Amino acid sequence: MRLACCVLLLAACVLPALAGARPAPSPAADDAPAPVALVIHGGAGVITREQLSEADEAAVRADLDRALDAGHGVLVAGGTALEAVVAAVRVLEDSPWFNAGKGAVFTAEGGHELDAAVMEGHTGRAGAVAGLRTVRNPVLLARAVMEHSPHVMLAGEGAERFADTRPELERVPNDWFDTPRRREQLEAARERAQRQAAGQAVATPAEARFGTVGAVALDRHGHIAAATSTGGMTYKRWGRVGDAPVIGAGTYASTGCGISTTGWGEFYLRSVAAHAICARVELRGDPIGAAAEDVINGLIPAMGGDGGAIGLDARGTIVMPFNTAGMYRGWVATDGRRGTAVFR
Ligand code: ASP
Repeated sequence: MRLACCVLLLAACVLPALAGARPAPSPAADDAPAPVALVIHGGAGVITREQLSEADEAAVRADLDRALDAGHGVLVAGGTALEAVVAAVRVLEDSPWFNAGKGAVFTAEGGHELDAAVMEGHTGRAGAVAGLRTVRNPVLLARAVMEHSPHVMLAGEGAERFADTRPELERVPNDWFDTPRRREQLEAARERAQRQAAGQAVATPAEARFGTVGAVALDRHGHIAAATSTGGMTYKRWGRVGDAPVIGAGTYASTGCGISTTGWGEFYLRSVAAHAICARVELRGDPIGAAAEDVINGLIPAMGGDGGAIGLDARGTIVMPFNTAGMYRGWVATDGRRGTAVFR
């Protein structure tokens, strides 16, 4: 009897919320193709006018635009959300401006260890890699883990060995990811570490931990996918893995919501940030804007963390909240409106 009451109560409370949280995309006019949408990020942090010259900003925006072209081109051609997010993230990984692939930050040992993840909402499939050293495009290996292995996440040596089984994926020496800008950040971090070891109180500047890339897409079938790729944090040690490749923390997609995050990974891990946003949408029926605000501008700063996120829902409503000075971002909305932005 008590069980029956519980079940009835649950059905009364949860089912309407679920039904409300998973709206079918509005019916398209006869023959009009269903709307598609794409949102991307290149990291959040202390990006101020003084720190970013006009020429550098133009170069960053040009690469964001190329990523939008790549991802949106897939969607318009009828490709899947998964293909679109992988195409967009791959462009950003190849750009030296972002902390993913070429241009990734250095570890304390002076190398690079790369993390990435993909997730497809309507199937619930996911793939992730951590601590990669020689795979040029980690997002491609994350997708391969999802599609060609029985596992969700592979790390370190094992992930490299799995990459050996995928000859189509380009391998590079670890120093291929080097850039002079990231080396300067490593030198500065080493100096800070020495001063800290000598007992001085030295704050870690935010630019040491930002620049991750990500993408979330809605395709013509109404399916959502998300992808994230990062070099992690400058001067990271001991095989540190952040939120980006952890499904639910840095990357998450369901039938009604997709999220990719960027920021101080330890806080995104502890708040399971990407899933926290989608759970508010799917289980509580929150609009995605309110859900993302609640987590990015409420929960994360309250814990002492910072950063941002991008995402969209099943209607293609795009959100891009951040609690830092800037976040590299770009979008193409369902009505075709398109843009890139850096500052608030
Ligand atoms: N979230 C990433 C990490 O902690 C860093 C970033 O977003 O730039 O590894």
